[in-house]
Amino acid sequence: MTKRVYNFYAGPATLPLPVLKKAQEELLDFQETGMSLMELSHRSKPYDAMHKEASQLVRELMGLSDEYVVLWLQGGASSQFYMVPLNLQLKGKPMEYVNTGVWSKKAIKEAKFYGDVNVVASSEDKNFSYIPKDICFGDKAAFAHITGNNTIYGTEFHQWPKIPNDIPLACDMSSHIFDKVIDPKLFGVMYAGAQKNLGPAGVTLVIVRKDLLDRVPELTPTMQKWKTHAEKDSLFNTGPCWAVYICKLSLEYLKSIGGVPAIEKLNRKKATVLYDVLDKSGGFYKGHAEKESRSLMNVTFTLPTPELEEACVVEALKHDMVGLKGHRSVGGMRASLYNAMSLEGVQKLAEFLKVFQEKHA
Ligand SMILES: *Cc1c(COP(=O)(O)O)cnc(C)c1O
Repeated sequence: MTKRVYNFYAGPATLPLPVLKKAQEELLDFQETGMSLMELSHRSKPYDAMHKEASQLVRELMGLSDEYVVLWLQGGASSQFYMVPLNLQLKGKPMEYVNTGVWSKKAIKEAKFYGDVNVVASSEDKNFSYIPKDICFGDKAAFAHITGNNTIYGTEFHQWPKIPNDIPLACDMSSHIFDKVIDPKLFGVMYAGAQKNLGPAGVTLVIVRKDLLDRVPELTPTMQKWKTHAEKDSLFNTGPCWAVYICKLSLEYLKSIGGVPAIEKLNRKKATVLYDVLDKSGGFYKGHAEKESRSLMNVTFTLPTPELEEACVVEALKHDMVGLKGHRSVGGMRASLYNAMSLEGVQKLAEFLKVFQEKHA
């Protein structure tokens, strides 16, 4: 028997076991082609059918209308930090961003190469421990941009900001895509590196409202235009075939367990189990995020001393729980509870933390 651990890494991250098993089962012979999907032409019929199915599952699970295109791109979410302003810029209009952490800052930095950027709200004053309230975007903006879930700090938007009419909202959904039901019509662009809540590293899911595809300046390199990829159904060049395939399996699995409403319910339960331990620890475990901004996906907390934090991570390892060391910007610990993390895994971690506290408090 292969030994599997409870993987709390922030990304690349845990995947559903049935997805890995299915990939294993099909590894040497993908749908009776006598080849692995890795060996299959991206122009072949079996690949094409799989590719279309992946995009269709995104549409279905998210409730996307025909007004949107689904793209599978390379270069990570980090490439979208420049592709968003490059593709959405409008001469003379500012681009407006909310700064909720390191990933927002990186997005802002890239936007500045293309024109004026207004940072309309920020939570930097408290080390990004909250999502700003009453965010106000101007009605002259080319577009607005937010980071939906802040992987490093463990904060998440639970209400979407109001956007003036006709201004597209772009959202970096890298660490929360499909974690809860959303109304896609609120967004002009949604993008996510797959390696957190969707699939493996190597592919970025980008969803764009079709009317926004024509904004891109003509003198833009072909590969940098969303439009290029939209016109060829993300098969303009050789895409990340294997990564798309694993995403497809993971979307299929999500559908089989009841889709986004079901996983949202489970995610809320998981988060409650863990946040309850923090809240009932009498201050031994201190959550980094303010309560109303708490992420369903990344739970960040500190212990009374760095020594205890290290001991806790080491002790957890002995119980087959890995990836709990916090990001250096926050310190302490971080447990990522992505869609593929089981309730059982979270309960095990919660029990472990209670016992650890009893031993060390
Ligand atoms: C991890 C992460 C990124 C970076 O993704 P890459 O695919 O590594 O470029 C961007 N935004 C958020 C919110 C992330 O969590």
